[in-house]
Amino acid sequence: MRETSRILSEACKQGRKSLLETEAKTVCTEYGIPVTRFDLARSEEEAVRFANTIGFPTVLKIVSPDIIHKSDVGGVIIGLKNPDEVRSAYNQILQNVKKHDAKAKIAGVLVQEMAPPSTEVIVGAIKDPQFGPAIMFGLGGVFVEVLKDVTFRVAPITEEDACEMISEVKAYPLLKGYRNTPPADIDAIVKILLNTSRLVTDYPAIKELDLNPVIVYEKGAKTVDARIILE
Ligand code: ADP
Ligand code: MG
Repeated sequence: MRETSRILSEACKQGRKSLLETEAKTVCTEYGIPVTRFDLARSEEEAVRFANTIGFPTVLKIVSPDIIHKSDVGGVIIGLKNPDEVRSAYNQILQNVKKHDAKAKIAGVLVQEMAPPSTEVIVGAIKDPQFGPAIMFGLGGVFVEVLKDVTFRVAPITEEDACEMISEVKAYPLLKGYRNTPPADIDAIVKILLNTSRLVTDYPAIKELDLNPVIVYEKGAKTVDARIILE
């Protein structure tokens, strides 16, 4: 696909091993993977302008080729309710990043739609030296980090594989709804798994992909963070 090819070859030309969040989300969009609306601000004024367009509450994040884990360096501030909060978050993020690494290259500050809280899932891809790309699925937070409740399939996967992956994790009952939590849109997750499989199958240069988290609603889902690492 056009935009994806352009982004990957540009990163390669610059000797980068990872895509910026803006680039990764553009790739996702081209592959039919839903992401939060975003725009890259290069000034405080621009950040406010984009926030006004995208709407409040909003989220600001650092975009730097030198920073992979953004919240570890104070590079993510969520829940900004008005232009004043956007201004101070913009400056706070740049200050936090500078304190962490004075030499970090800054591409800008990403202003993005704040996804309302709901059930979080993780979709990933890794490359096995023997079997090639494999797709990973799990529920977010403690399920992946503590319980390692995840499942894998070698790509390309079928729709049936995707459905199986979702229903075989131990946390699956949470997706079907419980107490006051409505059932999650399983179809939306199936589509994301299939499109992720298509993406990593089309582009062997992708070594690792991480949609973490994807927030799933009764209708639809939104990827709020996307990481793509290249060979
Ligand atoms: P990191 O590089 O640290 O993984 P993330 O982009 O994942 O940075 O942001 C950290 C956390 O902030 C996410 O796990 C999520 O809980 C929250 N977050 C980030 N972006 C959004 C958003 N657009 N809407 C709602 N929550 C968000
Ligand atoms: Mg993340």
